[in-house]
Amino acid sequence: MVLGEVTDIDLAARTVTSTVLGRTMVHPYDELIVAAGAGQSYFGNDRFAEFAPGMKSIDDALELRGRIFGAFELAELATDQAEIDRLMTFVVVGAGPTGVEMAGQIAELAHRTLKRDFRNIDPRTSRIVLLDAAPTMLPAFGEKLGGRARRQLNEIGVEVQLGAMVTDVDADGLDIKDSDGQVRRLNAATKIWAAGVQASELGRTLGEQSGAEVDRAGRVAVQPDLTLPGHPEVHVVGDMMALDKLPGVAQVAIQGGRYAADQIQRRLAGKEPEGPFHYFDKGSMATISRFHAVADIGKFKFEGFLAWMIWLVIHLFYIVGFKSRITTVLHWLVSFMGRGRSQRVATQQQVFGRLALEKLGPEFEASKTGGPKGAPVDEDLTGRESA
Ligand SMILES: Cc1cc2nc3c(=O)[nH]c(=O)nc-3n(C[C@H](O)[C@H](O)[C@H](O)COP(=O)(O)OP(=O)(O)OC[C@H]3O[C@@H](n4cnc5c(N)ncnc54)[C@H](O)[C@@H]3O)c2cc1C
Repeated sequence: MVLGEVTDIDLAARTVTSTVLGRTMVHPYDELIVAAGAGQSYFGNDRFAEFAPGMKSIDDALELRGRIFGAFELAELATDQAEIDRLMTFVVVGAGPTGVEMAGQIAELAHRTLKRDFRNIDPRTSRIVLLDAAPTMLPAFGEKLGGRARRQLNEIGVEVQLGAMVTDVDADGLDIKDSDGQVRRLNAATKIWAAGVQASELGRTLGEQSGAEVDRAGRVAVQPDLTLPGHPEVHVVGDMMALDKLPGVAQVAIQGGRYAADQIQRRLAGKEPEGPFHYFDKGSMATISRFHAVADIGKFKFEGFLAWMIWLVIHLFYIVGFKSRITTVLHWLVSFMGRGRSQRVATQQQVFGRLALEKLGPEFEASKTGGPKGAPVDEDLTGRESA
């Protein structure tokens, strides 16, 4: 394991270049698996990110937690009703599984967890809006389950607005264009972007060098054995690969990763390749709130408490390590049985760190860590034994 951000892959020279805090390294390879995943897509409006953080990393999660709890705290201090309303309006953009789960969690927080924690405001009066430009929510689950999920969200106090396209975002709120052409403004202090994904830039690098097609979301079209055309030594797996319209979910990444590793082992052992990659679809699920979920497993469609139980068991199964599983069960018990939540700490750094670092630029980080000064030092590892 080497810490670093991969900035280039040279398929002809078979090297990977990475950089960390001003230190650049070149790693040779014999076999390569590229699994750099996907980030948030703002569909060409990257400026929205300043006001509507995405939901892709632990940093994003901590920032969002700080912003959500912070909004309630500021509403408690505010005296102007319009300002209180703005602070207590939470907008989630994107009604896929991530957006649905986020909106449901904010509703639970407002209606259960925080309901007795303030003197001046009543968190239960918060407005939680889930927006999507598409006419349906949870499209991958089909119309019936999508409709059920919408009803469940309405029941827990989430307003679902479909056919609503966000055209601008600023510190105070969002501009929205509805499907009938009407333009309107929604004032909200907290905006969360869960609307789209953009595969790692490395996809484009690989596409340019191998001739593999790269789609609009930046995913690389791979061969049926998950390799690049003309490069049997390079596998691309997970969220950044495009094959047979497979969805960007963990199972595709896990099964693709296993398949690629297996192929490499076979090659090293002098065995014939296994044949094309076959994805085994184990189904899709999304939680909506405590005791409510939807699940689409093969021919079976579940909703409500049963779907929620299935969600819990399956996610527990995939958590790595005995200790983590036990801790998760305990956390769930506390959150589901009582109204309390242990994860309530938010720091200034979590809320403002991302924007401050972006403003200061990457040189700032390098200058504070005693790394190479001035121009980046190239450390060529080509002569070293590859990992
Ligand atoms: C909030 C959220 C909820 C989700 N819930 C579910 C769910 O319930 N079920 C489900 O199946 N899927 C879910 N997904 C999708 C699932 O997380 C992804 O499909 C899966 O993680 C993809 O795996 P991956 O290995 O392709 O990419 P990732 O897991 O994204 O891993 C990519 C890794 O590459 C690193 N990386 C990226 N670029 C570089 C670079 N240039 N240099 C070095 N390292 C780099 C990243 O830091 C990251 O560690 C969810 C996703 C999100 C964001």
